[in-house]
Amino acid sequence: MSKKLETKAGLDFVTDWAYAPSPEDTKHIKLEKQYDLFIDGKFVKPNSKKYFDTVNPATEQKIAEVAEADEKDVDKAVKAARKAFGKWSKTSAKERGKYIYRIARLMQERAREFSIIETMDGGKPIRESRDIDVPLAANHFFYNAGWADKLEYAFPNRNPQPLGVAGQIIPWNFPLLMAAWKIAPALATGNTVVIKPAETTPLTALKLAEVIRDSGLPDGVVNIITGAGKTGAAIVNHPDVNKIAFTGSTDVGKLIQKAIAGTDKKLTLELGGKAANIIFEDAPLDQAVEGIINGIFFNQGHVCCAGSRLFVQEGVADIVIRKLKDRMESLIVGDPLDKNTDIGAINSKEQLGKIQEYIKIGKNEGAEFHQSSCAIPGKGYFCRPTLFLNASQSHRIVQEEIFGPVLTVQTFRTIEEVIEKANNIPYGLSAGIWTDKGSKIFNLSGKMRAGVVWANTYNKFDPTSPFGGYKESGFGREGGLHGLLPYVKL
Ligand code: NAP
Ligand code: MG
Repeated sequence: MSKKLETKAGLDFVTDWAYAPSPEDTKHIKLEKQYDLFIDGKFVKPNSKKYFDTVNPATEQKIAEVAEADEKDVDKAVKAARKAFGKWSKTSAKERGKYIYRIARLMQERAREFSIIETMDGGKPIRESRDIDVPLAANHFFYNAGWADKLEYAFPNRNPQPLGVAGQIIPWNFPLLMAAWKIAPALATGNTVVIKPAETTPLTALKLAEVIRDSGLPDGVVNIITGAGKTGAAIVNHPDVNKIAFTGSTDVGKLIQKAIAGTDKKLTLELGGKAANIIFEDAPLDQAVEGIINGIFFNQGHVCCAGSRLFVQEGVADIVIRKLKDRMESLIVGDPLDKNTDIGAINSKEQLGKIQEYIKIGKNEGAEFHQSSCAIPGKGYFCRPTLFLNASQSHRIVQEEIFGPVLTVQTFRTIEEVIEKANNIPYGLSAGIWTDKGSKIFNLSGKMRAGVVWANTYNKFDPTSPFGGYKESGFGREGGLHGLLPYVKL
């Protein structure tokens, strides 16, 4: 059934694949048995000679072995990045932009391969990798390529200069997209990079290393090294790194902040979230229900800005919950490579364990448990879409980030009450508001302590738009003009 996908370099990404990849297709995906570290423009063996497995969470099968970088490898990568910085920072801005455009175009050309690998390695539905993650990642390179020779307009009369070597550490929920968010602005502003993908999802970053090599980007400008938390810590602690950009959990973010205290390293932290998705009585309800579903079940709920706390105004609570339960019954949980799948595999056994633990906690706290009755595969890590009704503000399932397809539901009467409850949480990354009244949107979005507020929509991303948090969700912005700022001295 497979139809050839044709994309042309330079054209907009083709999003309407008429097919899902068949098992036959996945056989043709070029995957190595073993992946080395990408340092100074070449794939090199790790110092320790140690490799770890990356598995497909939908099948529990090993996909490949990936090198584990230790401190010596990190040092080698930082030295390569430092050496490359000398030339790269003096390369004309226009020239720098050309390389970044080239990376973007090569990503588009290999979009199909990227999408399938992203889905195999991380468990997200192919529809999402294909239509969101991969095109958006390429768009981040396009967008930042455009800024490369316009930095003096971005920061008029402020003489923007690169910082030097950027150490970047990313999580497993949007592996390729997070790599793009980090690498593209660093290159556009003249920095060089040492980046580490997450342990469970290293493969698209390594495919990106192939694209970067094939783009002719000078050796050492981008180094991609794989490993576990220790490898990340070695990047953070390396004395010759000028900037750390971290996306991941609040706990690790705090460790990093402590580790670099007293040094002159610059830092941005994109951390956890627990967003309120607020439905008013005057909202278009069917549209709002779709927004609730997308808000919490997109990418299995492994989304820092997921709408994981639902607030429904009392007058429409019954009808919204009934419609929500009905809609949940229609969601297909299963094979991530099937284009009809709505909810794929939980990223790892460990994460599934954490979600199941929170489900137990929620039941013990006395919230009313509801799950879709859908079938789930016997093998692999899967979780049915889950609701906790009548949750209260003090419940751990309301206060803590679960990072899975689990939604807590609270009701409210007045605007004041919902603002108070929505903000009464350690996080401040995002929020959603559903109402027919523009004035309510303006009133509320100003009062929400959230970096991103969506109105009558949810989980919409664009490279031109800054993203980032308040409070324990971190600091610094990625995307848009604001996303360049953390990579320049003014
Ligand atoms: P994590 O455990 O904090 O890991 C993030 C990255 O840091 C991984 O590459 C990890 O390596 C590495 N790491 C672990 N310990 C480290 C240490 N001591 N020093 C330096 N690096 C270390 O987070 P995760 O579980 O991968 O991702 C989920 C979290 O990311 C959620 O809290 C989510 O909200 C957050 N997130 C935030 C945003 C945002 O923009 N605000 C976006 C996406 C995700 P290993 O993989 O080997 O452990
Ligand atoms: Mg994996």
